[in-house]
Amino acid sequence: MKYSLVAALLFQSTVVLGDLFPIHFRAPTAAHFLDIVRNDTFDFGCRPIAHPTDDGHFTLHALLTEEQIAHVQHEYQYASEISIHREVDKRQERATAPIGTGDRFKAGTVSPVGLGTQATGATIASIMNVAEINSATTALVNNFGVGSVTLPYKTFNGATQKAFFVGAGTDKSAYRLYLSAGVHARERGGPDNLIYWISDLVAANKANTGLKYGSKSYTAAQVKSVLAAGIVFFPLVNPDGVTYDQSSGSLWRKNRNTKSGTSGSSIGVDINRNFDFLWNFKKFFAPGEAPASTSPSSEVFAGTAAASESETKNHVSVYDSFPKLRWFMDIHSAAGDILYSWGDDENQSTSTTMNFQNSAYDGKRGPVGDTAYKEYAPAADVTAIKGVAAKTVAAMSAVGGRRYQAMQAVGLYATSGATDDYAYSRQWAKAGANKVYGFTMEFGYSTNFYPTASEFNQNILDTNAGFMDWALAAIGVGLN
Ligand SMILES: [Zn+2]
Repeated sequence: MKYSLVAALLFQSTVVLGDLFPIHFRAPTAAHFLDIVRNDTFDFGCRPIAHPTDDGHFTLHALLTEEQIAHVQHEYQYASEISIHREVDKRQERATAPIGTGDRFKAGTVSPVGLGTQATGATIASIMNVAEINSATTALVNNFGVGSVTLPYKTFNGATQKAFFVGAGTDKSAYRLYLSAGVHARERGGPDNLIYWISDLVAANKANTGLKYGSKSYTAAQVKSVLAAGIVFFPLVNPDGVTYDQSSGSLWRKNRNTKSGTSGSSIGVDINRNFDFLWNFKKFFAPGEAPASTSPSSEVFAGTAAASESETKNHVSVYDSFPKLRWFMDIHSAAGDILYSWGDDENQSTSTTMNFQNSAYDGKRGPVGDTAYKEYAPAADVTAIKGVAAKTVAAMSAVGGRRYQAMQAVGLYATSGATDDYAYSRQWAKAGANKVYGFTMEFGYSTNFYPTASEFNQNILDTNAGFMDWALAAIGVGLN
């Protein structure tokens, strides 16, 4: 059993992020990766995702140290169906898109201009620094009447956080769409994708024009329809982490909370494992499943309690401020997919009692491919969310021709405490809460967290078309 060998790696010293190398595993089926993905010291990006190849195989991408690569090469030397391949370059040494210096938005006086309102071939030169993200959103408030909400909790390093709303007036109960970005610090371009899309919407609305992203075009009427749905956006969920990542180039993922560790990788909590959905995974999941980690040095450290982190609490507060939100999208990279609920186990629509709140199933959740537990989702919901995900990836693929796939979030392996499952779980977990469909977008190429300038711009085009069709498809399904 390979698991015992892989598990031995759990006790190795902490990972030095700067020395991670992109590799991929290749095998005839996704199930061949099930042992590998149980290792919670390996960095699989946002989540372990198996991608189909053109020749009928599957790949699984990861960022590993030389020591880890040597271990897996040794471990799988006789496993002829699984091969391990180094990517051609060390990603951190490529010419990655620069981070902006100064403030291109001049203290909130110059509005960001997206690619959808510019001529084909226009580009954006650099990724926004944290001050620019704040300045850009301030400009949207000042110049386009976008609303803002100061969120109740300050981050560990003292940052004040804001969410913004646009399109449906001052009544917060009129807002139906919620998008957030910047949960994982290293996933560069996430906040930019969202801010430039909003900039396109408000500019096109004002000029009564449409939008164009590569081969995808949208009419002025579609722009107005999307805005009328009411959009709430939280473009920088993890400012402490992004500040650190941009200054260190260390592929930093978590926030910067030092409660559980004060040096190296022991600092920080994975915000996307900290939400109050099956957070206490050792109780709720089957033995041996590791949908998150209790080790502070893990990239998926869940924190000290459900919603222990300010960023998580602020993210949740948005649902309380905008009580009729129906559709949620969390923007991540890098894989090239849209994930839909659930992420804790496979879906089933036949047994309403086999659900995340039923303690009879504690200790059974997580394993993919078994029958002991599958998570309940009403059949009509599954049809709706699959349809919306399919339209979103179709739009993203149509922009420039790169391939995106839609898949259930559980994929190869379960997660706990994630933003998208939390969103969908609220209707059952919180009295009076509205139903919210949860999605995760993972733009870009696998484990390519620092895109080149060209990739950064392509990501803006791809995601912005994806947001448009996601919103349009959501409106088609229904906002109430
Ligand atoms: Zn992520």
